[in-house]
Amino acid sequence: MECPDCGHDRTSVVDTRSGADGTTVRRRRECSRCSFRFTTYERPEWETLQVKKRDGSIEPFDREKIRGGIERAVEKRPVTDDEVDRLVAEIHADIRDRGTRIVSSKLVGELVSEKLREVDSVAYVRFVSVYKAFSDPEEFVRELDRIIDEELGGEEVITDDADSGPDSPPDSEAD
Ligand SMILES: [Zn+2]
Repeated sequence: MECPDCGHDRTSVVDTRSGADGTTVRRRRECSRCSFRFTTYERPEWETLQVKKRDGSIEPFDREKIRGGIERAVEKRPVTDDEVDRLVAEIHADIRDRGTRIVSSKLVGELVSEKLREVDSVAYVRFVSVYKAFSDPEEFVRELDRIIDEELGGEEVITDDADSGPDSPPDSEAD
């Protein structure tokens, strides 16, 4: 840790104490060049990020909980542990970048859904159906339709009467 006064990169800890609630460590440091003394605080990262649940209660952001949710969703799917790690890290970084200390569980769920959707659509569907990220069942069904459309949209869809389908618009210009 650099000295905040002179910028020297060697400082030593002269005193270490636990915070009153036991989750914080307070250190007194001294610069080895100019002897400037300053205090640093160390606390677990989850302390700085909280999740507000639907019922209004607040709990610490828990990476392991998110990993658990993702792992359940990707079970028996071609998604590696490394990819799961990456997803968890990206979600965590995304939330941190918002610069807020409290995020809603809904937002967390949406971020997980978004990431899963990029990786594996089956895992995505599993996740949203368990997580109930949608407020009503119809919304969920619409979302499912959208995914299925997109999945099919990536390939040639062969039908018996491709030429004469009523859905295919005419090529002529309207004006
Ligand atoms: Zn200094």
